[in-house]
Amino acid sequence: MAYINKHIENLLYYAKDKLNLSFEDAIYAKNQLLELFNVENTFEIADRVDLQTEILNPMVAYAVEKGLTAPESALRFETKIMGLVTPAPSIVIEEFSDLFSVSAADATDYLYKLSVSNNYIRMSDIKKNIRWMTSGENGEVGITINLAKPEKDPKQVLAEKNQTTDKYPKCMLCLENLGFAGTLTHPARQTLRYAPITLNGEAWHLQYSPFVYYDEHCIALSDRHIPMKIDENSFARLLDFVGAFPHYFMGSNADLPIVGGSILSHDHYQGGRKVLPMFYRPLKKQLSSVLDASIAIRDWYNSVVHVSSRNKFRALELANQIYTRWQSYTDESVGILAYTNAPHNTVTPIASMNSKGEYCLDLILRNNRTDEKNPFGIYHPTEDMHNIKKEGIGLIEAMGLFILPGRLKAEINDIINLLASGNIDFRAINEDERLSKHFGLIAQIANNLGAQCDKKSARDAVIDYINQTCIKILECTAVFKNNKQGELAFDRFLKFARE
Ligand SMILES: [Zn+2]
Repeated sequence: MAYINKHIENLLYYAKDKLNLSFEDAIYAKNQLLELFNVENTFEIADRVDLQTEILNPMVAYAVEKGLTAPESALRFETKIMGLVTPAPSIVIEEFSDLFSVSAADATDYLYKLSVSNNYIRMSDIKKNIRWMTSGENGEVGITINLAKPEKDPKQVLAEKNQTTDKYPKCMLCLENLGFAGTLTHPARQTLRYAPITLNGEAWHLQYSPFVYYDEHCIALSDRHIPMKIDENSFARLLDFVGAFPHYFMGSNADLPIVGGSILSHDHYQGGRKVLPMFYRPLKKQLSSVLDASIAIRDWYNSVVHVSSRNKFRALELANQIYTRWQSYTDESVGILAYTNAPHNTVTPIASMNSKGEYCLDLILRNNRTDEKNPFGIYHPTEDMHNIKKEGIGLIEAMGLFILPGRLKAEINDIINLLASGNIDFRAINEDERLSKHFGLIAQIANNLGAQCDKKSARDAVIDYINQTCIKILECTAVFKNNKQGELAFDRFLKFARE
């Protein structure tokens, strides 16, 4: 193991080079590091080396060996080190705002690159995620097995929504996360940096998602810990955002459980580069083009109303009109009930600027009703698909990018080995805690492939099963199905737009 002194010098060199740590801040950071590692001084010459493998990994190993951190807290210790050499929040904010006054894209570029370079976004981990594309009748769909993100049960999300808590920080999104040391259940955030933005006259902040589901995946979060709520103000904030950052989209999860995202307790939006599959789909039906605004239906798996206008306030007015109509809309012929014991209709709104410089809002119509036959949701994947995805179908999935749980990687390998072994004991599978949920998948593929199959055909069959399931999940979320009956019902809902 090289001397810890050498690693400290290499880290400071990296911070000056890649993070723009100033001369004085580097001296200050060095003294913090000397204290942290119980080193008196260093006289080493710094080298340009790989941050993760040649600086951080050995520094953390040293800290564990010397008892400076417990092995289970190693990641938090690493974050602490990187926090010490990352420019202070105020400096990052000043730089962001200076750049923003000239170019919004330069400002986001700066904050994104900083968030990667200081390891807030751990690219070495992200690269291990498994990604591929598949296609169906209504276009391509992306699939990622995400190894870093924990799987969340929809019931847990609901329980957290209105939970009053004296926990600090109250949730993963609160502003108080900035610099937080972390606990066993809450990640360390010394490397988090965000920038203030104004949306609809309110104070919000912009930061990046450490999970980077897609290019420059960012989060706009309310300065206040208040629950998700979709209303006219949400549309106004989303449109304000894309007006200021036209190179990004910004969307919100629906505000009801089952059809929403994994955090309902803190109002926030997700955005980034316009690379999600839905953006590549054409408009299939132009319904009305009155004055300077138009309404259309997007050719997509679920039910998307597309509003566009050069005039921001016109786009806002139209979106709000559609949303208000949808909230109270019932069409029993296709199972849509606006209200039973609670409201069920909401939307997943996504704002963007198109190439013509128009403000656009894609409103994905959602309904979260459950009944005896569909206890998990009528417009939600049925239980036989939960082995692939049981979480709520939030905006990223609704736009065609599936984030599947990391557990699938090992489970898929076990299933492939099992199928290729030609010796499948279904009773044992039923009793296996990990594999029993895949019983239907294994039985179907074993039946199709017969007793003899090699690993490659087993793998192809498993991936194909996952692809088909993801497309089916998207179709489940459609309140108006892509068939004659659904299309007629969709037309009835939008009748007002043609009058
Ligand atoms: Zn919060």
